[in-house]
Amino acid sequence: MVRVIMLSPPGAGKGTHSKWLAQRTGAEHISSGELLRAEQANGSDLGQQVAAYTARGDLVPDELIFSILVPIVVAAVRNTGGYVLDGFPRTMPQALRAAEIGVELGLTSNAVIYLSAPEEELVSRLLDRAQLEGRADDTLEVIRHRLVVFAEETAPLVDYYRGRGILLELSTDRPEADVQADLRDWLETRELIPPAAGESQAAEATG
Ligand code: ADP
Repeated sequence: MVRVIMLSPPGAGKGTHSKWLAQRTGAEHISSGELLRAEQANGSDLGQQVAAYTARGDLVPDELIFSILVPIVVAAVRNTGGYVLDGFPRTMPQALRAAEIGVELGLTSNAVIYLSAPEEELVSRLLDRAQLEGRADDTLEVIRHRLVVFAEETAPLVDYYRGRGILLELSTDRPEADVQADLRDWLETRELIPPAAGESQAAEATG
């Protein structure tokens, strides 16, 4: 079963690709951003604390992220056998601590997918999304800041996971179906997902 971390700058498609992957595998999709937005929407004290960071495009403190996410990841593994982590870990301290907890609890990640696209493409996708979703942090100024935060805090994770031999890097500056096909093939090769039903017949039929 997949226990995968989706790693990408804002706008590169981690939400989109996490969703189909979770559907395809039955692993639970866990989006840290969505969990934080739900917390803000219910107006709790915790939600108000969170909003102070997310509105500026800054990262929420690690303690807070771990207190929200760890129980959810543990439950996901118990209920579905896997997870698709969308937006976590996002800093080296988060990655190191997540790895420790993973070893302790037997739920270590087996794949990390790094999605990338040119910066101007990311900005334009996020501005388009702002029209549709109206997220408070999808303004040009906050988007630029989130990209800087990604470069400083999150980009170092790419080398860390490459060193662990579980990294797949994919450009998403191309049709979504092509990205999906590459991701699916890589996971199938690693036997993290079974071949899709009918796929081999389709391949035979087309020769
Ligand atoms: P995006 O990748 O488009 O920035 P997300 O929905 O993943 O969007 O995250 C939105 C915001 O939630 C981030 O800008 C940050 O403030 C906060 N956030 C999400 N995940 C984390 C995390 N793992 N650590 C700290 N803050 C986070």
